[in-house]
Amino acid sequence: MQFASADPLTADEIASAPVHLPRPSRLAEPLPGTEELGPRAARALETLGLHTVGDLLEHLPRARGEARTIATLQREETATLLVEVRRIDTRSVRRRGMKPRVEATVADHTGSTRISFFNQPWLVQRYPPGTRLLLTVRADPRGRISVTAHAPTDQQLAGEAQVAQYPASEGIDSTRILALMREHRAAIADTLEPLPGRLRARERLPDRPAALAALHFPGDEGEAERGRRRLAFDELLLVQLALLRRRARRESAAAAPSLDAARDLTRRWLETGLPFPLTNDQADALEQIDRDLAEARPMQRLLMGEVGSGKTVVALFALLRAVEQGWQGALMAPTETLAEQHFATIQALMPGEAVPAALLTGSTTHSRRTDVLGKLANGELRLVVGTHALIEPDVRFARLAVAVVDEQHRFGVRQRAALDAKGAEVDGTQLSPHVLHMTATPIPRTLALVEHGDLDHTVLKELPRGRRPIQTFVASGERERARAYERIREELRAGRQAFVVCPLVEESEALQAKAARAEFERLRDTELRDFRVVLMHGQLKAREKQESMAAFAAGGADVLVATSVIEVGIDVPNATVMLVEDAERYGISQLHQLRGRIGRGEHPSLCLLFGPKDSARLKALAAHRDGFELAQIDLRLRKEGELIGVRQHGFAQFKVAQLPDDEALLERARREAAALVQDDPGLERPEHALLAQALAASYGAEALAPIPA
Ligand code: ADP
Ligand code: MG
Repeated sequence: MQFASADPLTADEIASAPVHLPRPSRLAEPLPGTEELGPRAARALETLGLHTVGDLLEHLPRARGEARTIATLQREETATLLVEVRRIDTRSVRRRGMKPRVEATVADHTGSTRISFFNQPWLVQRYPPGTRLLLTVRADPRGRISVTAHAPTDQQLAGEAQVAQYPASEGIDSTRILALMREHRAAIADTLEPLPGRLRARERLPDRPAALAALHFPGDEGEAERGRRRLAFDELLLVQLALLRRRARRESAAAAPSLDAARDLTRRWLETGLPFPLTNDQADALEQIDRDLAEARPMQRLLMGEVGSGKTVVALFALLRAVEQGWQGALMAPTETLAEQHFATIQALMPGEAVPAALLTGSTTHSRRTDVLGKLANGELRLVVGTHALIEPDVRFARLAVAVVDEQHRFGVRQRAALDAKGAEVDGTQLSPHVLHMTATPIPRTLALVEHGDLDHTVLKELPRGRRPIQTFVASGERERARAYERIREELRAGRQAFVVCPLVEESEALQAKAARAEFERLRDTELRDFRVVLMHGQLKAREKQESMAAFAAGGADVLVATSVIEVGIDVPNATVMLVEDAERYGISQLHQLRGRIGRGEHPSLCLLFGPKDSARLKALAAHRDGFELAQIDLRLRKEGELIGVRQHGFAQFKVAQLPDDEALLERARREAAALVQDDPGLERPEHALLAQALAASYGAEALAPIPA
């Protein structure tokens, strides 16, 4: 019978299939210890967290290598051989200080060969003739074989074409782990199948023991991949179950005011007040939010859209839906600047409407704050925009129904909970506000499903207005630098403005500020001496920052030399050039955000990234302008970086699943998890018992906490 085949079985096949009942207790047996393996290897197993047979079987290979016989081993190839020792003895080595060399003749059913071990004279005793060895060897161009790893094994020839390669550790190598794995191969049949049979049939997945066997002992590439996909499915299903159960718990634990009445204000605003027509994405978002708000359970929606995609309009709609029905709305932003900007934008967006609104931040004066707090508590103020100041304990709302959290990743769980707790109490019931989370950092859907899988998602892709094109070039070398300044001067002479962004210095803001000042002085005195240049960095005094910004915004300055502080919050449509120094120090999304500062007006724009021409990240920026596309590339590059071990990041770590490649699998897992939470929220049915156990093992007992009816 074929592994992972979807062909139905005949009655005879079913009747003659071997019956095997797993004995999971066998998995709890300890692995061989110091006595059998030696102290170093035993310690290494501990380090890898491998204590029992079950742990060992869950230690999955990270790659596959070639398995060869002595006859099929190719020159310049690294491969694994399974051999038997025929003769073994020591040769003394002439050079001083070197231990005697061990030479052996080893054979398999295809032939024999001579191999040497260096610096390990004790192997003569350890590997007497008759010992079976698993060898990882390398054949040089002349066919001479050197041994890179070796381990004794009691296995017979297996004849597989490939062998698994394992994450190793100081003291134990992959070959040794493979030998152990072969010893405990039979225990794979004792591992449990967490997935209910129906689900497995529906998704056409092989059973878990078969998948484990396929990964550890691959018959061929396809088989190992099908096994990997099955195990990846488990990981993805569990994470989605954990997220969707958390979401279901919150949904049923909290009630929210159902906002399904009066649409006078929003209707009028959309028809006549709003200074522009909505983009299609915005219109869809409004519809989704309108539906969410009509429910008696709190909205939990994430609105993703890059800078300039028009999120504020969507946020304002949600807030006004509360206002027009006699409730209150609050918008919370992570910084004062952002809060002020939102407040200004909101007022500009509803010119004709007199909605009582206020701004509340850390700089709000004491008397003003007292006034605002009073009016929030008595319900007179209907709309408030602010920072963390909004969630301080003495801030009370009379009837908060909608909360918008901008740049939601910059707030912690506790701060969001504090906002939730500001909901109104109606007839003795504590209501939670509907919450719209916003983020300007686009992330690919795969990542969104994993990191924000407990929220509904809305994406604004389409940018409003006739956005002008931005041409992006990667530049390096003196000639291109000279040409770049020439281009900048051309733009400036034509009346446009320019940004010069200085290198990122992660270790020290002070250093970065110093570098920015030096560059500012250099440009002012040389390349751009005919123009008005101003400086902007995080260490300037608040007043100096304001002066620079105001001068640049009003056109009084031609060039703004800045650190990455300009990433958020500058809107100067007349700025058409951006030059970024040492651009490869910035991440893709940061560069994309920076570049969003140009291309905002009626003129075409130019972005010059100084850095290595072969940088994959810079090339991606030159080729793409869509933030989601770039985020997807970023994810791929990071993953590759991780594979070769150069870069690390904080994305959800899976042992087997690979995002974004496993996107289709993730969508399937998401659907199955949703169906499970719907049908059996407590995972109480007998066929779900093992799944519940697996969930708790991966995400802790909290993941199994009951969902109130
Ligand atoms: P975001 O918060 O997503 O960065 P904003 O909501 O601040 O974006 O919108 C960016 C700019 O685009 C604002 O000046 C806003 O008034 C404008 N805008 C938003 N939606 C539209 C639209 N549909 N048509 C034209 N301009 C729009
Ligand atoms: Mg915004």
